[in-house]
Amino acid sequence: MKPRCAGCSKRIAKGEPDLILRQVAPENPTRTALRLVYHVRCNAAALERASEIPALWHMTHRYIDAEAN
Ligand SMILES: [Zn+2]
Repeated sequence: MKPRCAGCSKRIAKGEPDLILRQVAPENPTRTALRLVYHVRCNAAALERASEIPALWHMTHRYIDAEAN
């Protein structure tokens, strides 16, 4: 399955930098309940989604592999 951006619904090309937004399960923070992929240029949409429940979302920039706050 080809990854689609959860922000603009367009395909994310192979090798294109992307953002992974993970929602952790409230009852078990080590479990990922939901995983969304975004273009880096669509990070505004990702941030908007994450700001709804900031405590449950972890954003990962795949190519830097660091957790953003
Ligand atoms: Zn996008």
